[in-house]
Amino acid sequence: MKKIACLFFVFLISQSNYCQLSYAKKNVKKLSSKKMKGRGYVKGGHKKAALYIANEFKKHNLSGFNDNYFQTFYTSVNTQPGKISLTLNKNRLKPGTDFLINPSSPSIQGEFKTTYLSIEDIFRKKILLKKLDSSANKVLLLDLQKSNEISKDNKNKLNDIVNYLIYSPNIKCKATIIFKNEKLTWTGSTRENTKASFTVNKPTDVKTITTVNTNCESLFLEKEETQNIIGSVNGYSELDSTIIISAHYDHLGMMGKKTIFPGANDNASGVALLLELAKHYSQKNNQPKYDIIFIAFGGEEIELLGSKFYTDNPVSPLNKIKFMLNFDLAGTGDDGIKVVNATEFMNEFDKLIHINKNNSLLPAVKPRGPACNSDHCFFYNNGVPCFYIYTLGGIKAYHDIHDKYKTLPFTAFENYSQLLKLYIDAF
Ligand SMILES: [Zn+2]
Repeated sequence: MKKIACLFFVFLISQSNYCQLSYAKKNVKKLSSKKMKGRGYVKGGHKKAALYIANEFKKHNLSGFNDNYFQTFYTSVNTQPGKISLTLNKNRLKPGTDFLINPSSPSIQGEFKTTYLSIEDIFRKKILLKKLDSSANKVLLLDLQKSNEISKDNKNKLNDIVNYLIYSPNIKCKATIIFKNEKLTWTGSTRENTKASFTVNKPTDVKTITTVNTNCESLFLEKEETQNIIGSVNGYSELDSTIIISAHYDHLGMMGKKTIFPGANDNASGVALLLELAKHYSQKNNQPKYDIIFIAFGGEEIELLGSKFYTDNPVSPLNKIKFMLNFDLAGTGDDGIKVVNATEFMNEFDKLIHINKNNSLLPAVKPRGPACNSDHCFFYNNGVPCFYIYTLGGIKAYHDIHDKYKTLPFTAFENYSQLLKLYIDAF
C-alpha cells in the first residue's frame, strides 16, 4: 500500500512538472509564432503579444490596475516593414542570414558605386580622408573580416571610427556596409539615422564589389503607443510590502516583409516563467505571504523604455518593494543560472544558493555584479533590491532569426521554476 501511495506521489509530482513544462512550452510557442511578428512594431506584433499575456492574466484571475492590465506609454521607433534587398555586384544576399540592416536606417533605393576601406585604410588617416573625399553618394564598404586579428585596444579604436562613419552626417556617402566574420546580432532603434547601414556576414572578397543594389523601405514611427502588462495577487499577510516578478515580452519584430525575429529565449521564455509563477500563486493553496505584482514589460529592446516608464509611474510605491525578480533568457539552464546584483544583495543570494543546494535543482547558481542590461536596472537605480536572473548554456542563438521555439531546450525549466517558488516562499 505504502509503495502504491509513494508511486502515486511521484506520479503527481511528475505530472505537475509535466504540466509546468507544457504550459511554458505552449506560451513560448505562441509568443514566438509567426502570428506575433517577433513582438516588435511591424504589423502590431507587440500589441498581439500584450493581448495574449493579458488574457493569460485574466485566466489566472490576477487583479488589474485602473480596471485593466495595461499601462500605456509612447515611444518613437524606427521600423523596416517593407522591401528589404541587398545585392553586391550580381549576388543577392539573404536578409537575416547573410545581412542585417542597421535598425536606425532610413529608406534607401538605387544602384550605387562603391568605395573600399580595409582596416589598414581606416587606421591611416591620410588614406582614410582621401577615400572619404571621393565617397559622396557612393556606398562605403568597410572590410572588417580580419578584425579578430587586431588587439583589443585597436578594436575599440576601430569601433569608434566605424561608428563615426556610420552615423556622422559629416560623412557624405550614401550608405555603409560592414563586412564581418561575427554572428549577426540585431537590435532595435528609437531613432532614424541620416543614412542607411548594413552588416554582412558572408565570406566575401570585398575589394571586387563595384556596385551595390538595394531597395529598403523604412518607416519611422514618431509616437507609437505601446504598453506594460501588470497584474497582481494578494498576499495573506497584513504587511504592505510587495514582491515584483517581471519579464519583458517585446522583441525585435520584423526586418522586411518576411524575416521574423521570433525571440523564443529572449524573452518569450521569461514571460512563460512569469506566467507559470502567476498561475501558481493565483491558486488558493499557494497564496503568497506578500502581494506579488507581475509585470510583463514592453519596450525593453528599445532602451528599457517600459521599465523606465514604470519606475517613473509605479502602480504601487517603489519603496514598498521587498524584492524584485526580473527574468530574461529563461529557456536553457544546461549550465545553471547567473544572478545579476548577487554581489549587492549577498544575504538574498546566499539564500538562493542554499535552497538550490538543499533541493538539488540547478547545476550552478553563479553571481554577477550590477549591470544595466535588463528591466531591473531602473528599479535598482531607484534603490529597489533586485536580481536579474538568466539561464546559462544551451543554444547560441541571440537577437537573430535562430532564436526559435523549436530549438529552445527548456533544459532546466521545471527545476528553475521550482527553485523560484521555494525562494519566493522563503521571503
Ligand atoms: Zn533582447
